[in-house]
Amino acid sequence: MSMNRIYLDNNATTKIDDSVSKAMDYVEKHYENASSMHESGRRSRKMIEDARLSIKKLIGANEDDKLVFTSGGTESNNTVFHSMISAYKELGKNEVVISKIEHPSVIESAKELENYGLKIRFLDVDAEGRVDIARFEKILNKNTLLVSVMLANNEIGTIQDIKKIVKLSKKHQTLVHSDAVQALGKVRFSVEDLGVDYATFSAHKIHGPKGIGALFIRSDVPVSPLLFGGHQENCLRGGTYNTQAIYGFGEAAKIVTRDFNEDAVRIRRLRELLKEGICSRIPDVKINGSQDDSLDNTLSVTFWGAEGESMLLALDNEGVEVSTGSACAAFGTKPSHVLMAISNGDPEVAHGSIRFSLSKYNTKEEIERVLEILPPIIDRLRSFSTVRR
Ligand code: PLP
Repeated sequence: MSMNRIYLDNNATTKIDDSVSKAMDYVEKHYENASSMHESGRRSRKMIEDARLSIKKLIGANEDDKLVFTSGGTESNNTVFHSMISAYKELGKNEVVISKIEHPSVIESAKELENYGLKIRFLDVDAEGRVDIARFEKILNKNTLLVSVMLANNEIGTIQDIKKIVKLSKKHQTLVHSDAVQALGKVRFSVEDLGVDYATFSAHKIHGPKGIGALFIRSDVPVSPLLFGGHQENCLRGGTYNTQAIYGFGEAAKIVTRDFNEDAVRIRRLRELLKEGICSRIPDVKINGSQDDSLDNTLSVTFWGAEGESMLLALDNEGVEVSTGSACAAFGTKPSHVLMAISNGDPEVAHGSIRFSLSKYNTKEEIERVLEILPPIIDRLRSFSTVRR
């Protein structure tokens, strides 16, 4: 990426922090297998355990809770749903409830369970992307094995009331999972306080490396491995430890823990500047997601009568990098399932929106530049459009 590009796609991934790179460079030289019993192996092992502690601290886990390293959020989510196959046999409950706006790694993992005799029920969300709690209470019953609702949404930023969801679920001894990939480092929470049984995390959304994530597992809940043949992680996740990436994840967690307050305030201010600038300079826009409970860095906007991909490409041409929905949806022409869910299936919202997602590396000057170039782009695209209201 050339120096002068403006990167506003931080929910897709983030720039690695320089201190994380440095920490990882150091580990690269210490290549020894963390499962080896010799001194160098034990040193690698210690790096892994240090990282685990830093991440546990960030997520507010107890020392005796399990935190298993995985290849990322996708694998952590898959592990939870895969674990439900034997849990279903053991507990005899066969219903799994997920929200309609989950990440594809949750939705597709849940659908896979249908092949094993489980039933999937989808939870509606309101116009701001919040789970319909009244409906949830009605759906819950003694056969509900697992509920999975993300802590924060990647496309619109809406934060869910997971504590409430846990409280209701526990009346039926239902297990609760939350995909906290987007919340990590952006929302203050603790897995203990939320009361979830499983929670999913990924390093590359918090200025850490790609291909490394973690799964929090409460000490007494069912879990079965996806990968067999390795004793690592108490036989829950086989494969030689990626010491370098794990250590990088730990370093990223430490930095977030240290800088959280300061960064959150700065990022929120920049997001507000962008939001107010868009609303005052461009007519006929709608801000998607919750106005009260939303990620500080995320701004999803519908520009009526302009088309998402065209806006993205026009901005890209000017050096501004955003996305239409999620990075995963970018190569399909299918409308975003999240935008469809919050708009009652209005294709104009689903096809006419872009997502700006900020990070600690963005500056006021960058936001001001975006506010200069965006109005003429929208004007031009609307003048071609056949759907202009
Ligand atoms: N869950 C959410 C909410 C995400 O935004 C993402 C990443 O886009 C994932 C899961 C997948 O994480 P990973 O890229 O580490 O597999």
